[in-house]
Amino acid sequence: MLVDLLEHPISVLVVDDNEMNIDLLINMLERYDYDVYTATRGDEALKIAHEVIPDIVLLDITMPGMSGYDVCRTMKQTEILAEIPVIFISALDETESIVEGFEAGAVDYITKPFKYREVIARVQTQLTLARQQREIQALHQHEKERYESMDELRAQFIGSATHDLKNPLFVISGYADMLELSPKIQEDESTLSFVHSIQRGVIKMRDLVHDILDLLQLETEVTLEKVPVDFTKFIKHVSKDMHIYAKEKNINLVIYPPDEDTIIHVDPQRLMRAVENLVSNAIKYTPEGGQVEVVGKVGYSSVVIDVVDNGLGIPQDALPTLFQPFQRVNTEEHMQQDGTGLGLSIVKTLVEQHQGTIEVDTKLGEGSCFKIVLPIQ
Ligand code: ADP
Repeated sequence: MLVDLLEHPISVLVVDDNEMNIDLLINMLERYDYDVYTATRGDEALKIAHEVIPDIVLLDITMPGMSGYDVCRTMKQTEILAEIPVIFISALDETESIVEGFEAGAVDYITKPFKYREVIARVQTQLTLARQQREIQALHQHEKERYESMDELRAQFIGSATHDLKNPLFVISGYADMLELSPKIQEDESTLSFVHSIQRGVIKMRDLVHDILDLLQLETEVTLEKVPVDFTKFIKHVSKDMHIYAKEKNINLVIYPPDEDTIIHVDPQRLMRAVENLVSNAIKYTPEGGQVEVVGKVGYSSVVIDVVDNGLGIPQDALPTLFQPFQRVNTEEHMQQDGTGLGLSIVKTLVEQHQGTIEVDTKLGEGSCFKIVLPIQ
């Protein structure tokens, strides 16, 4: 038996303008201890539904004034009533009406003349389904909350552990610098090389700490300081540091501002961080003598920033996970460069915070083009 479906007594709202039908249905339903509420008009049905929040509604299609379809549609658009299953009551020859009833949001129908077993079976089936649906939703919500709190905990843990590394790193690097300058160590080549190894290790750890904290901070601070920005000036503004870095590596860094001026609405600091991250990658993964270009283009409703290089390129099998944290390309040449594998996920987060997209077109051994597309507004 499926009678005890809910902990509280089950309430059924029966809506029909024909009193005889109502009496018949009351008779059938009360045998199952259901609390039966009745209405003979659509507007009255909605009023009672708001008061009682029934577990299920049996709804006649054709009624004077508001039709059953209208009642059903209104219920589905009303948050507190939307989940209540509605079974239409129809005459046998109303196939068209049944279809329209389903379109209005009904879950089933019963035909007149009523057959006792059919009415009860259909009502019970829909009550069971509705209860299961609620259970699934509750489970889903619970899982979601659990996942979110674990995710928060994980971020907090990584954040504080990483933050706590800053001070010891500062101390190690300070003493390593002092040792490097000490006359005794300067005389001893092999000890000096150990000191240099410590210094290189510290720089790697410092970069990693910096990138992890950066990414965590970006994920939590989602509000952007958006202001109107002249796109041409923005593209020309790629920092001196990048030009110095390019020069050091004998890379030709060329900036192509857009042909047309436009104003974009962005957080200039954050967007520039994204662009410069791509430029610094392009320089890093391009052998000496290569070329890196930053190209700005203005489209109808978006702007494009391409960062193009003729460097190492990226193998196809690395592409699906390229923008995920800690992903590095595993070739010998790529691995010769220091990196944390966090830069591109920082770029992606920054671009997505601007409702933009980032993609890459690349060929191993030939070069890469990272393309940022941003809405103008
Ligand atoms: P990393 O700190 O290692 O540079 P990123 O997240 O910035 O981390 O990049 C992930 C990986 O993608 C890099 O390790 C590198 O192998 C590859 N990569 C990124 N940009 C380029 C590029 N312009 N050319 C070739 N490989 C690149």
